Amino acid sequence: MIAEEELENLNKKWEKDCQCELKNEAKQAVFGHGSPISDIVFIGEAPGKKEDEQGVPFIGSAGKFLDEMLSEINLKREDIYITNIVKYRPPNNRDPLPEEKASCREWLLEELKIIKPKLIVFLGRHAMNNFFPLEQISNAHGKLLIKKFNGISTKYFYALYHPAAALYNGGMRTTLMEDFKKIPKILKEITNKETSESLAK
Ligand code: URA
Repeated sequence: MIAEEELENLNKKWEKDCQCELKNEAKQAVFGHGSPISDIVFIGEAPGKKEDEQGVPFIGSAGKFLDEMLSEINLKREDIYITNIVKYRPPNNRDPLPEEKASCREWLLEELKIIKPKLIVFLGRHAMNNFFPLEQISNAHGKLLIKKFNGISTKYFYALYHPAAALYNGGMRTTLMEDFKKIPKILKEITNKETSESLAK
């Protein structure tokens, strides 16, 4: 089965089975979007109002900012895959609760198993803390985090400030844009490391 079909089946299954309480108030589930064979997966926090209405992640103002940063590194939405740790909009865009994150966690892990990216980029602290609970975003942003998780193809993770948080904060915005520009170099380094690791086997 090709990755696109696998993702479709996965989303159908989890839309039915996900026990997340947010389901009761949200208009719909917001599935991951983009290339199912992308080397990079971006993970955000949770859908906002626009995403809830249209069923597509990052299409509001944070998404527009993200598109601008992608274009600076010669990438388009179709080239990458983007998803959220929580697939349903929390009421009034509040932070997702630990139990809501836990309910949607397996869905996300199964997405990652299908896509098999080389690099996972966290958009904001919620996404990062889902995998690295002890890291602080103010310290970890712009650094490569390396850790092997069972069933995840890559051990390489990169944390960024959330585009919505950085949108109207001059200093954070500059930092996010600088961190973002490093992505192609990081991906190249990972590819080189993987090549030399497989040659050494
Ligand atoms: N913020 C997120 O974290 N995810 C979205 O899909 C939209 C805004």
